Amino acid sequence: MNAAAMTESQFTLAELAAGEQLFLRPWKFIKGVVGLETLPVDGRPEIALAGRSNVGKSSLINALVRNGNLARTSNTPGRTQELNFFAPADDSLYLVDMPGYGFARAPKEKVEAWTALVRAYLGGRPRLRRVFLLIDSRHGLKPPDLEIMGMLDTAAVSYQIVLTKADKPPPRALAEFAAATEKALAHHPAAFPSVLVTSSEKGTGIAELRAAVAAIAAE
Ligand code: GDP
Repeated sequence: MNAAAMTESQFTLAELAAGEQLFLRPWKFIKGVVGLETLPVDGRPEIALAGRSNVGKSSLINALVRNGNLARTSNTPGRTQELNFFAPADDSLYLVDMPGYGFARAPKEKVEAWTALVRAYLGGRPRLRRVFLLIDSRHGLKPPDLEIMGMLDTAAVSYQIVLTKADKPPPRALAEFAAATEKALAHHPAAFPSVLVTSSEKGTGIAELRAAVAAIAAE
C-alpha cells in the first residue's frame, strides 16, 4: 500500500469537494491567545493543530490555505507560545495553531507555561471538535507526543494523527509506520482510528486534510 492509497480511500468525492471549497477563498489570521480569558467567545467550531517543534506544522497550514505566508504569523518571535487563531473567509470555524512542543533545550519556565496553557485549553473548550496531532513520519511517536495524547484521552478531546513529511521515508517504511501507528491508537480512547498521511512539499494528503476539516466543521 502506498501513501496515496492510504489516504484516498477515506473520503468521498463530495467530501473532497467540500474541503476544496472551504479552502478556496483566502484565510486570515484572527488573533494570538496567551491566556484563556482572551479566547474567542463567538461559539464557532474549532479544530486545532498540534505537534513537536519542526514537525512541519507551519508548512502544512500554509499548504492547506495555499498561502506561503499565513502560518509565518505564528512562527514570528513572540507568537510561538500562543494559540494562534485562523479563520476562512466565511467565518464558519477557527483553525487553531497550537504552540510547538518538545524543544529539548527549552527553558523550564517556557515548558511549564506551554503545558499550563495547553492543558487549560484542551480540558475546557467544548467547541474544540478535533485536534490534528502532527507526527513526523520519519520519527514516530515520541514521549512528548504520548504525553499530549494522554492529555487528550483524559480530556476526551477527539484527535487524529497526521503524518507529515511523507515524501521523506521510503514508501514501504511509511506504510509500515502508518500501520503500526494505527495499531497503537487502538489503546487510546479519544484517538481517531485512522491516520492521515501528508507531505506539504509534494501535496500528498492535503486535499484529504481539507476534506476532514470541512467534514468536522459541518458536523
Ligand atoms: P514547524 O516548526 O512545525 O512549524 O515546522 P516547519 O513547517 O517550519 O518545517 C520544519 C522543517 O521541515 C522545514 O525545514 C521545512 O522545510 C521542512 N518540511 C516541512 N514540511 C515538509 C514536507 O512535507 N516534506 C519535507 N521534505 N520537508 C518538510
